[in-house]
Amino acid sequence: PTAQIGVTGLAVMGSNLARNFARHGHTVALHNRTFAKTKALMEEHGHEGNFVPAESAEEFVASLQRPRRLIIMVKAGAPTDAVIEEFAPLLEEGDVIIDGGNAHFDDTRRREKSLRERGLHFVGTGISGGEEGALNGPSIMPGGSVESYKSLGPLLESISAKVDGTPCCTHIGPDGAGHFVKMVHNGIEYADMQLIAESYDLLRRALGMAPGEIAEVFRTWNGGRLESYLIEITAEVLGHTDAATGKPFVDVVQDQAEQKGTGRWTVQTALDLGVPVSGIAEAVFARSLSGHADLRDASQGLPGPSGKKLTGAAAERFADDVEQALYASKIVAYAQGIHQIEAGSQEYGWDIDPGAVAKIWRGGCIIRARFLNRITEAYAKDRKPVTLLTDDHFAEALGAAQDAWRRVVATSVELGVPAPGFSAALAYYDALRSERLPAALVQGQRDFFGAHTYRRVDREGSFHTMWGADRDERTA
Ligand code: NDP
Repeated sequence: PTAQIGVTGLAVMGSNLARNFARHGHTVALHNRTFAKTKALMEEHGHEGNFVPAESAEEFVASLQRPRRLIIMVKAGAPTDAVIEEFAPLLEEGDVIIDGGNAHFDDTRRREKSLRERGLHFVGTGISGGEEGALNGPSIMPGGSVESYKSLGPLLESISAKVDGTPCCTHIGPDGAGHFVKMVHNGIEYADMQLIAESYDLLRRALGMAPGEIAEVFRTWNGGRLESYLIEITAEVLGHTDAATGKPFVDVVQDQAEQKGTGRWTVQTALDLGVPVSGIAEAVFARSLSGHADLRDASQGLPGPSGKKLTGAAAERFADDVEQALYASKIVAYAQGIHQIEAGSQEYGWDIDPGAVAKIWRGGCIIRARFLNRITEAYAKDRKPVTLLTDDHFAEALGAAQDAWRRVVATSVELGVPAPGFSAALAYYDALRSERLPAALVQGQRDFFGAHTYRRVDREGSFHTMWGADRDERTA
């Protein structure tokens, strides 16, 4: 056998990963359910490196050096289980199956356990960066055993994106940890995209700027602390003109955002873990709301402050205000995502280091951004911050941004431009900084109608007030 690694599932992601491995000097075994795809890949790109195409599963497995390492890049869900079941019986103790698809971490935990019992390593691996990243260097988030990473890690690190010479790939933690972190990555991605979209909408509707002008604003922002892939491509999309109509591209696209489900998983999991990821949730809901054409059609006649725009000094400073609101809200989205990673890590015993995660998100992935260095620094300190918001650097940035942030949210409300991402982020910030929350009243209500009891600020124990009788307080 000559191949160091095999890839089965040669659609766009699998093909590009295979080519990436070959370009880095590895011999790559190739397999796909439909052999025509394998043949097509060989014809088009076979000259790029050393490939060993295989028609059957047996041939594929026989071409792999031991411990065998084979990456599955097929449709997530049942197809992944089918492919695992096809290959597992052909493998031997110590071999490694890698699932690079977008699996739910619960599936990964189940698969890892069952394969471990059969003597095989199973590595659920998050891969971000889309097709382009798969070919030229993605961000890679592998879970699975420490032992599996010893043989697999160097291979994955060689094809990953590099920032300052450091690979954007690290062992995240056992079993489902890699897919969990990839899921939260996508949740943060949803929030980031929503916040950028709200920024565009506000600039357009509050100032009357044209998409091309707003593209320039984003281009300028990309030269500063907001520098990131998503800001960069936003400028490209906003600056693009539709060839057929000559109109701004953004005006000819239907305004209904779709989703493949990883953002929804993030929020569902956060609810189960009891983590308030309100900014990420608003982003998921905003996509969902945009898709409800019927609700939106039926609501066209509802009154609002129609057509009002900002003028004077407020208009002058508004773009700068939005930059501040965007930066602050983005910090909140990451703080919420990291909180979820920490909660998941605790629940499942993964021991994930958020700083190491931020480090491998600096390159290759969709949320790659300059400011991730700051997150890594925050978690490299001896005393880890309880939340990213209170780390010195971020606390200072939030303090400096908060006036502008409030003006932007106030403007959105006044002009009737929905900005759920900005509002939710600001509410989260204000909730954390409030000395007292009205949750005390909610506890009172719960005790009133359901005798759910409450705790007091001045004494230990649980209490219940006899609301329907003498309002005497009893120890519960
Ligand atoms: P698809 O998700 O479109 O999957 C197509 C591949 O799955 C084909 O190779 C197909 O084989 C194979 N397949 C489907 N069902 C079966 C089955 N029952 N048995 C065997 N093989 C099967 O391909 P992508 O390349 O877009 O994505 C691959 C994975 O990577 C997915 O899990 C996706 O979520 C994930 N991913 C995708 C990203 C992207 O940007 N596209 C980014 C990151 C992750 P055949 O040719 O025979 O039909």
